[in-house]
Amino acid sequence: MEIITSVKEIQKISFCLRAEKKQIGFVPTMGALHQGHISLIKECKKNNDWTIVSIFVNSIQFNDQNDYKNYPRPLDNDLNICQELQVDTVFAPSLKEMYPEEFLTFVNVEKLSSNLCGEYRPGHFEGVATIVTKLFNITNPHRAYFGAKDYQQTQIIKKLVRDLNFDIEIIVLPTIRDENGLALSSRHKYLSQEEKKQTYVLYKSLKKALSLLDKNIKDPKIIIDQINKIIVKEHLANVEYIKICDPVHLSDLKYISNEALIALAVRFEKARLIDSIIWRKN
Ligand code: AMP
Repeated sequence: MEIITSVKEIQKISFCLRAEKKQIGFVPTMGALHQGHISLIKECKKNNDWTIVSIFVNSIQFNDQNDYKNYPRPLDNDLNICQELQVDTVFAPSLKEMYPEEFLTFVNVEKLSSNLCGEYRPGHFEGVATIVTKLFNITNPHRAYFGAKDYQQTQIIKKLVRDLNFDIEIIVLPTIRDENGLALSSRHKYLSQEEKKQTYVLYKSLKKALSLLDKNIKDPKIIIDQINKIIVKEHLANVEYIKICDPVHLSDLKYISNEALIALAVRFEKARLIDSIIWRKN
């Protein structure tokens, strides 16, 4: 496995792979790898000749500098995981390598970035769209893999690829959860034992929403109220938002007809967790 830290070098690798007609798969991550990331890497390995995994904690997508500073960076462990999975190339640049001088160019996917997490984390999706654009330009893959856990992010990236004419197939894979239904996240290390026990309400509340919809309860207000009731029973959970949106445009739904995105963000003391689920009429 090669570990590359220079932009120039990874560009050269990608150029040579393409010259050899190799299919390149790309998995962008911020490291602290867990089974969610691993599922993306495995799928990438299955369907491409060459797998590139990037590990880069992208400063410009953090709207809270403490969150950036404290974000876990267990690089050696991440490299071991990549090695075991037989990743071909890890791209792990420094901050200076990615942002060597005053950075003035940003990618903003309008509308899709304004609701849900965008409302509570100003600038976050601009940071995400910008780094993904840079990484796509640098690694020049045929396919890129993302997790449905960050649903809004996947919609933004799909739109960015269409609008900016990237010839890259975006593959979105299901959310990987622990035995209690908690969507795995690199931020779980911030949770205390007691908080961890209480996080199970997130998925429980989403499943409750699905069952209400299956019973033909279609008023978002009623469903949101039910989700909220379940979550606030756990005293360490603070709801940031619970929303029911159109899964494509990410706008709030006033009435649910054929499909809906049910999404939430809940804060525990040091960890902000997000989760979502899609409901579709049978
Ligand atoms: P991150 O390192 O958090 O930026 O995530 C890198 C990629 O892994 C993104 O495409 C995430 O959506 C995906 N990912 C993170 N957690 C999970 C999970 N629990 N299940 C599936 N994919 C995930």
